Amino acid sequence: MPVPFLDMRAMTDEVRPIVLAEWERLLDRSEFVGGDEVVKFERDWASYCGAARCIGVANGTDALHLVLRALDMAPGDEVVVPANTFVATAEAVVLAGATPVFADVDPHTLLMTGEAAAASITPHTRVVVAVHLFGQMADMTELGALCRRHGILLVEDAAQAHGAAWRGRPPGSDSVAACFSFYPGKNLGAFGDAGAVVTSDERLADAVAELRDHGRRLGSHHLHGSIGTNSRLDAMQAAVLRVKLPHLGAWNARRRRIADDYGERLRGTCARPVARRVEAMHVYHLMVVRVPARDVVLGRLASAGIDAGVHYRAPCHQLEPYRRYWRRPLPVVEQAAGEILSLPMYPHLDSDQIDAVTDALAACTVGSEAVVA
Ligand SMILES: *Cc1c(COP(=O)(O)O)cnc(C)c1O
Repeated sequence: MPVPFLDMRAMTDEVRPIVLAEWERLLDRSEFVGGDEVVKFERDWASYCGAARCIGVANGTDALHLVLRALDMAPGDEVVVPANTFVATAEAVVLAGATPVFADVDPHTLLMTGEAAAASITPHTRVVVAVHLFGQMADMTELGALCRRHGILLVEDAAQAHGAAWRGRPPGSDSVAACFSFYPGKNLGAFGDAGAVVTSDERLADAVAELRDHGRRLGSHHLHGSIGTNSRLDAMQAAVLRVKLPHLGAWNARRRRIADDYGERLRGTCARPVARRVEAMHVYHLMVVRVPARDVVLGRLASAGIDAGVHYRAPCHQLEPYRRYWRRPLPVVEQAAGEILSLPMYPHLDSDQIDAVTDALAACTVGSEAVVA
């Protein structure tokens, strides 16, 4: 049985008639960028995250970039980021004019801990970016305490963590700001690119709102208070996100149930799921397991028609443009990069498909090791 990595069509079909009706309404009004629809989504998403403000932007990379710009990074300022993240996290730091400093992660969760971040702090550190990778929030208690102790700011990359929580608190609760991507494949995805910044800091919110619109002073047409960019959220995407938002809780619950099923059925195979912390409400953007001889296993799965992925094959510090920022050994990240495998994961994955994946993994296991060759 072939199993795709992601079935976006099933999610699209659940919302299609309502999205089309909303789009008809917007075409009638011919309001395409910003406007009422965007304001309404910003209100909905702020409220979902329990934050005072949400600023819709063009994508998740811009959300990070504009928050860092609003925090006034100066050349030489350092921003600590985990090395095993999507390149956009480090990219946003460089775009904002600061220097990324790569940190190692916890071997069980593959998330940056307070201890790992602490090892990368210098007198130049201004910000730590917690990346909630795979749908699980990093230990915000530890990272928050570390940042308070050093007088530095904590920012969240929540691009994979829509609806996640740490000790019951969603992204944006215990940091300066949380940055979301609504790229179509994320847990809450638009029908194109979109992103948002969530914060309870009014001044930061206003600064990001100004930067996303060419630095235009809020409420003014002609006054430009800063050199911004064009990173506005369009109304067509805001409408999709508003229609999809009421489904997010149920979709995340299905992802968690699927992860539990995987966990049970993978016992005794060569695949070990990345650990889940009890304090975390994990939303399983990705179902990541570790296997020995990963590329052999990946090949076997492909022959069985199972579409798996690797997130990410090369840690950021090993990507050519980012090597210059590499300072310290990152043994956990480097070992994990050769062992991680992302299994098919989406709310509509059914029990037979999960069986097909776990049977294929069992077939490449001898004892608890992967068959090599
Ligand atoms: C998707 C993603 C981003 C970037 O979001 P875009 O909307 O693609 O710009 C940033 N960080 C992480 C961890 C992501 O998964």
